[in-house]
Amino acid sequence: MSSSASSVVNGGISFWYTDDGIPAVREPLSGDATADVVIVGGGYTGLWTAYYLKKAAPFLRITVLEQKFCGYGASGRNGGWLYNGIAGRDRYAGLHGREAAVRLQKAMNDTVTEVITVTGAEGIEADVHRGGVLEVATTPAQLARLKAFHEHELSYGEKDRELYGARETAERIRVADAVGSTWTPHGARLHPVKLVKGLAAVVESLGVTVHECTPVTEIRPRHAVTPYGTVRAPYVLRCTEGFTASLKGQKRTWLPMNSSMIATEPLTDDQWAAIGWDGRETLGDMAHAYMYAQRTADGRIALGGRGVPYRFGSRTDNDGRTQPATIEALHEILTRFFPALAGVRVAHAWSGVLGVPRDWCATVTLDRSTGLGWAGGYVGSGVATANLAARTLRDLVQQDSGQAGRTELTDLPWVDHKVRKWEPEPFRWLGVHGMYATYRTADRRERLHPGTESSRLAKVADRLAGRH
Ligand SMILES: Cc1cc2nc3c(=O)[nH]c(=O)nc-3n(C[C@H](O)[C@H](O)[C@H](O)COP(=O)(O)OP(=O)(O)OC[C@H]3O[C@@H](n4cnc5c(N)ncnc54)[C@H](O)[C@@H]3O)c2cc1C
Repeated sequence: MSSSASSVVNGGISFWYTDDGIPAVREPLSGDATADVVIVGGGYTGLWTAYYLKKAAPFLRITVLEQKFCGYGASGRNGGWLYNGIAGRDRYAGLHGREAAVRLQKAMNDTVTEVITVTGAEGIEADVHRGGVLEVATTPAQLARLKAFHEHELSYGEKDRELYGARETAERIRVADAVGSTWTPHGARLHPVKLVKGLAAVVESLGVTVHECTPVTEIRPRHAVTPYGTVRAPYVLRCTEGFTASLKGQKRTWLPMNSSMIATEPLTDDQWAAIGWDGRETLGDMAHAYMYAQRTADGRIALGGRGVPYRFGSRTDNDGRTQPATIEALHEILTRFFPALAGVRVAHAWSGVLGVPRDWCATVTLDRSTGLGWAGGYVGSGVATANLAARTLRDLVQQDSGQAGRTELTDLPWVDHKVRKWEPEPFRWLGVHGMYATYRTADRRERLHPGTESSRLAKVADRLAGRH
């Protein structure tokens, strides 16, 4: 078995850091300070927010406080799918009407272009390739879901999405047993760490103060408290996503869900010729416990999925290490999709956490009475969404401080959404583990007993988790 755990680099934050290097850390906070806006967390959400606020109002004194180094979290570990999916859109359609949800979807489509345009304009070289997103079906039940998904997306105004049969799918990527796929142009592959490092450098060059190795232990109105001092500011923006549970009073706000990835060694030209994938689309599937993958700029496959989904008590990090069983499971998906790659070595494996709200809906909020804001709960679709959230936080702060009025972004239905907290343990752990165990059983059943009906088990799991 070529993925054998001993030959795999496990952790080290992520493969992307092995590829591009762990950055030298910036100075921590050195005593009490004041600012106009303090941002907690130096991932995409925090850094994009600093970027857009500073661009809009260069006089603002903005401070970013990061517990380790910018990009330590999911922004330095993700699959590099910059795409137009947003968690909770259907629920927002139910709460605010179809038209509002269509506006949200349109904003997400535009966000993909926004990220590509701004990174280009700022000289951030992040291996961006706009090849769209290809999602494949490999069983009759997945094909039925794929067709329904395709119709559903069209109904949100995505007229340029296409539906392919087996042959057209193989012309793009030769996934074993693929019977169909859907492709959207609203997606690009990128190198997550190059993006986050580039963003941190750009915001610093604009005059934003960035302190690293500075964990915030408590956020209160107008205060961000750290062991090195307290930063006081009229606006305190929480951009900590999957790590939010570690903040005082936030234990049950967003559940830290794990996602794990592997990266192969670089494939040979012959191996690429056997697979295709010339368009560098990001690749996903229609399994209940879905996978996601990209062809990296240096010719590897980076592939992710759900390993152990959640650690008891909302524990988060071990610098990206993942379980040997998860490496094996991801390797099994790789070779099931591409049997010709059975001998290819897995070079690296890692994991990270993403934030899941109780109703699985991403949100962006500014509480006008306290000046506290937050954005996240992206449920694994945060690479583009963080940018939309950041521009929205900019508009909300500007609106509140009288520098601007309502905008198209502040009127989007995910703004100021309220959600209840997760259950206490052990119910959180039981619920999430039960859900993913059920998804995996449903996927197995659909593979072993092909039929066009989605396994009923998956619906039970959805209800169990409060997803639908
Ligand atoms: C393995 C994996 C694969 C993924 N793949 C994709 C993908 O392909 N496409 C996609 O759209 N999304 C993907 N996601 C999700 C996406 O990466 C995230 O939604 C996004 O990066 C969130 O950005 P963020 O800035 O909100 O959070 P993060 O990037 O997690 O940043 C939060 C930051 O806050 C810091 N922090 C936390 N607590 C504190 C504190 N108390 N004090 C100071 N600092 C603190 C952390 O160190 C971290 O740097 C993936 C996630 C994972 C884990």
